[in-house]
Amino acid sequence: MFCDLPLSCRCGHTRGVAREVSPPAGFRLVCYCTDCQAFAYYLQRPDVLDPSGGTDIFQMPPGRLTFSAGEDALRSLRLSERTKVLRWYTECCRTPIANTAGGARFPVIGLIRSFMGHDLTKDLTKDLAASGYSRDGILGPPRCRIHERSATAPLPPNAPPPASFGFLAHRAGSALGWWTRGLPRPNPFFDERTKAPRAEPRVLTPSERAAL
Ligand SMILES: [Zn+2]
Ligand SMILES: [Zn+2]
Repeated sequence: MFCDLPLSCRCGHTRGVAREVSPPAGFRLVCYCTDCQAFAYYLQRPDVLDPSGGTDIFQMPPGRLTFSAGEDALRSLRLSERTKVLRWYTECCRTPIANTAGGARFPVIGLIRSFMGHDLTKDLTKDLAASGYSRDGILGPPRCRIHERSATAPLPPNAPPPASFGFLAHRAGSALGWWTRGLPRPNPFFDERTKAPRAEPRVLTPSERAAL
């Protein structure tokens, strides 16, 4: 079963929708890397991390995400000159939205759970409560964890398993499939015509990065 997942920053200014979401239509994982943690600290939003410093991410094709309001608050960040990864958030309430590649053509974006709305239960109640659907039901539980050596506390017993080679191979195959089906387009984080990021990325200096 596919469904459309409503998206919203904490204050509700920036909104959107992730379409045709289901567990096999993406890859939900928990990333414990220090860059994801630094992003949360930069935004002064450590509350978006789990108790072990993990970020809950749903990797999906860019073309299935659209914004419906508040795009003026979109901002992007690069943690250093070296890294091309763009980390997107909203200026209004400093909610992490997603991680993307530096260019519009990469077929995968990482949608961050904190953008999946704070009233999600209420939103879901309207459409889906009758079927007992929950966010876990829509996204599926996290399939794996990555970079757990950077976790800030011991992982809970029910933590997802480490990424296996099979998982990585399957994910690469799916990303290729999204690519061939044209799902990178339109990429909502990049101008469709110029391919430039819709918000000029701010690049942290080495000392700013080190302070996080
Ligand atoms: Zn907001
Ligand atoms: Zn990470």
